[in-house]
Amino acid sequence: MQLKLTDFIKSEEKNDISVGDGIQALLNEIFDYHEKILKEIERAYDLARRARSKCLDPHPDVEILVARNLSERVEKLVGMEGLAKRISELEYEGLEREEICFKIAEEIVEGKFGEFGREEALDKAIRVAVAIQTEGVVSAPIEGIAKVKIDKNEDGTEFLKIYYAGPIRSAGGTAQVISVLIGDFVRRKLGLDRYKPTKEEILRYCEEIPLYKKVSNLQYLPSDEEIRLIVENCPICIDGEPTEEIEVSGYRDLKRVETNRVRGGMCLVIAEGIALKAPKLKKMVEKLKIDGWDWLDRLTGKGVEEVVKFTDGDYKPKVEEDESVKPADKYLLDVVAGRPVFSHPSMKGGFRLRYGRARNSGFATVGINPATMVILNGFIAIGTQLKVERPGKAGGVVPVTTIEGPTVRLKNGDLVRVNDYKTALTLKDEVDEIIDLGEILINYGDFLENNHPLMPSSFCYEWWIQECRKKGLNGDFRRIDAETALNLCDEYNIPLHPDYTYLWHDIDPEDYFYLREFVSNGKIDGKMLVLNYDDRAKRILEDLLVEHKVRDGKIVIERWKVLVRCLGLTFDLRKVNIEADGDTLSIVRKLSGLDVRAKAPTRIGARMGRPEKSKERRMSPPPHILFPLSLAGGKQRNIKEAINYTSSYNSVKGEIEVEVALRRCKDCGKESFWLRCDCGGVTEQLFYCPRCKVKS
Ligand SMILES: [Zn+2]
Ligand SMILES: [Zn+2]
Repeated sequence: MQLKLTDFIKSEEKNDISVGDGIQALLNEIFDYHEKILKEIERAYDLARRARSKCLDPHPDVEILVARNLSERVEKLVGMEGLAKRISELEYEGLEREEICFKIAEEIVEGKFGEFGREEALDKAIRVAVAIQTEGVVSAPIEGIAKVKIDKNEDGTEFLKIYYAGPIRSAGGTAQVISVLIGDFVRRKLGLDRYKPTKEEILRYCEEIPLYKKVSNLQYLPSDEEIRLIVENCPICIDGEPTEEIEVSGYRDLKRVETNRVRGGMCLVIAEGIALKAPKLKKMVEKLKIDGWDWLDRLTGKGVEEVVKFTDGDYKPKVEEDESVKPADKYLLDVVAGRPVFSHPSMKGGFRLRYGRARNSGFATVGINPATMVILNGFIAIGTQLKVERPGKAGGVVPVTTIEGPTVRLKNGDLVRVNDYKTALTLKDEVDEIIDLGEILINYGDFLENNHPLMPSSFCYEWWIQECRKKGLNGDFRRIDAETALNLCDEYNIPLHPDYTYLWHDIDPEDYFYLREFVSNGKIDGKMLVLNYDDRAKRILEDLLVEHKVRDGKIVIERWKVLVRCLGLTFDLRKVNIEADGDTLSIVRKLSGLDVRAKAPTRIGARMGRPEKSKERRMSPPPHILFPLSLAGGKQRNIKEAINYTSSYNSVKGEIEVEVALRRCKDCGKESFWLRCDCGGVTEQLFYCPRCKVKS
């Protein structure tokens, strides 16, 4: 059976977990641990409540409700009794989150949570779904959906309208589309027809969404064709509250559109929800077997009109058979000055994809070597938001020392791989060009979450050793020398060690043969391979990421044996007599007789997102309590400082004007701004009109 964290919290309706004795002891320990945490929470809350009851803070009680898990949070957020229990039951039955949304929605309509009118049932079902989907931690379910309404099509049938508001943004694309799907699901249960938009209404959407993009931020602006496709086919009407001051100029005063102002919530749901999340929506629709959404195919690029407009600059319909993933440059939209682009879509030199998780990385984070941060002049710091080409939109950066760092050319011409922070600091000022940014660590979950096909990984030790184990090779081969690497290949018939795997796929056969010729004219001097200086050859070596030095006008390579073998040369630099053609990698394999893998088949383009997001904003020193002293308290809002403050020469020292709420004691009627009166009574807020001097 599968256990969830919440199973370890004891409750009255505890489901018994039956396991062996050995594990039982362990489980007991975990139970005790959680019980201890809960007890401590209780103690902390007790203390906080007593402090709050002194009425020195703006609120006499602790506002944050304790919810032990998702289901309780959702129940408390939407305020529907019995919901938590039901969600837990469904979770226990093993239903997935989306399925729970639909099950609960069905039960709300069936009246299992009380009798509701049609609009109320629709309203509740949609809010609960959004709450479940957002785990009950954002306000979107309450504030993001203004209302739902049933309206009439021109043929007299009824359809459902959902009015979205600005805060729906915080729900994220996935929860937004869930709300639309739930709307469709519930309206069918209630026998409502689909929304049949008029021509004018469709054109209104086409006018309004680009207009919203101009006045506010939209991650993705769908084309006219996409908007039209969505509005014509979406079975419910996505409407919204006016959120912007700006009004549409073309399609005004439509009968069924209540406002001429721009409706931000609607724009978000169509653009960032349906258009951007189409692949995910499609996956959900297929899994839940909801019909009538086939048109999504045309948004996800599996049908006739593939949308690759951001790659090519123009819209081109095409019929696509191959599933290969193309460079995507959506992440380059909205580039702002001062937020550098680190690498262009799937270009060599960019971040090389590695899969996995470090201790400090997780969902929506990407790991890069700390040396890369230094080499990039600190433009990427811990926590910087990095917009990436794939799989998702962005990730917070964390340092990971176990992946490869950048490769740089120094001012003296040396090509060096920098794998650690300290070396990076010493070399930083010597860097002439960053040839390669190193690896980027992205976890599988991010690909799953974004419904992005997995891309080929960089060839790395973890992968290599798995293949070696199968061939009977045991031991640790993390750091080996060139000879060992070659001997292992010949002896065990295993792929070439990743440390000695160069980026052959980044050069073309012509360059390969040029380099082969060039190296064959070199010299072995002691332990080094010494080559004459040649611009083209040097550039090829750089592209391959073969470390070398430049000394006395010559290119010197210390670890040269694998390179030479890969170029189809013997150790005394004679050419082996084998013919080969095809792509560079297969030529290398043929001429070397080695199983050489693609070192970095996937590059991830990246640019800086919002650097300011990563900064914690705090006052220094951080105060415990703020009193509205305005600037009289200095930048620390210090009361002691305010006592000595004079606003002008004539004013009295320490007399300052502040804006505070007016309150009146319920017991003695005395006015003050405190929550509790001197007499011990509780005060209530008074409203005062300065013009007619009325207090109420
Ligand atoms: Zn009083
Ligand atoms: Zn008045």
